[in-house]
Amino acid sequence: MSYNVYISEESVDGDSDGPLAGRTVAVKDNISTEGVRTTCGSAMLEDYVPPYDATVVERLKDAGATVSGKTNMDEFGMGTTNETSAFGPVENPVAEGRVPGGSSGGSAAAVAAGEADLALGSDTGGSVRCPAAFCGVVGIKPTYGLVSRYGLVAYANSLEQIGPFAPTVEEAAELLEVIAGPDEHDATTRDAREEGTDYDFAAAADGDVEGLEIGVPTELLDGADEGVVETFWDAIAELEAQGASYHEVDLPSLEHAVEAYYVIAMSEASSNLARFDGVRYGQSGGYEGNWNESFAKAREEGFGEEVKRRVLLGTYALSAGYHDKYYKKAQDARAWVKQDFDEALDDADVLASPTMPIPPMKLGESLDDPMKMYLADCNTTPVNLANLPAISVPAGETDEGPVGLQLIGPAFGEKTIIRAGSALA
Ligand code: GLN
Repeated sequence: MSYNVYISEESVDGDSDGPLAGRTVAVKDNISTEGVRTTCGSAMLEDYVPPYDATVVERLKDAGATVSGKTNMDEFGMGTTNETSAFGPVENPVAEGRVPGGSSGGSAAAVAAGEADLALGSDTGGSVRCPAAFCGVVGIKPTYGLVSRYGLVAYANSLEQIGPFAPTVEEAAELLEVIAGPDEHDATTRDAREEGTDYDFAAAADGDVEGLEIGVPTELLDGADEGVVETFWDAIAELEAQGASYHEVDLPSLEHAVEAYYVIAMSEASSNLARFDGVRYGQSGGYEGNWNESFAKAREEGFGEEVKRRVLLGTYALSAGYHDKYYKKAQDARAWVKQDFDEALDDADVLASPTMPIPPMKLGESLDDPMKMYLADCNTTPVNLANLPAISVPAGETDEGPVGLQLIGPAFGEKTIIRAGSALA
């Protein structure tokens, strides 16, 4: 069974040696691959073949990896269940009849189903961590600026990072080691060595949590499914048994994070997706004497419903009369979230929560209620607003599927979350 994980199953060999030699890596279909179709899960780019590799793909090839194919995803990364893809949904390989999570659902499912050893996804508001949690694998969202976004098709560029999936924390760390580091093509990248750390991520996966102090933001447990909360506390107990301790913290800003996230993400999306006018990329709107009509036709035909909703809402939030009311307020909330996290991380090495407040949804049940789908991102989106690193590791299962434990670290604290996560997976 293929679970519909790939949009294009075309393999590309890398160099013959290197740290990833002999391993296959599935790549999300919003990451550019030279000569291999890159659709972003959209009819708009159904036939688009990029002329260049994203920096992360170049690094995979240099490291000896074989790219096994381009994975299914929510259209342009907009979704939490992988059901907004123009190429059909992905089925969760470990929870029959349920979604794999999104938007990098194909990448997580490829690893969970053994169709690739490792995978890359992108995380704008949870799109690596959510599918990792739902498919029972490990996923890391790096600190903003650790990994180059050159060649990643932008959805909301101030929020997103490319991140690894793997069956274990150590393997995810190995893949992160390969893709991380500054890039002259992405001016937002930083050198970890100038941030007081280094790139020895795999070595940090030593499972040593002796003396680790964990903060548990109570807001991220409120309203979560009972089975999820139980599994979460079991995982914390397991870390305690290995020498960690925990305390609860209140972070009042987190209640506003998901709202702020959606205003910012949609605003940036409305601007980033303006380039799809049917002239330069993908689906053409033809030309019958009026360019406005031709742009409108390309966008009407090429974009799916969720993408249209977000472009419209984002345009609205940025428009002259509403900018201060929505966009500016959201930016204020973003600053508040960042400040709350920074303070909490003064008294804790990592913060912990369930990655998702719910188990994987049943296939076909989410698209009718976008608001409900957005609210499922309440635990992951605050981390993107604050540009921090976070990992999702398998914590256990309920009857409805796997549960992920999310561990959040300080900026460039990847080694800390890798070390803590490796005590469990
Ligand atoms: N579910 C969130 C959204 O739809 C996050 C998506 C992502 O991280 N790409 O925006």
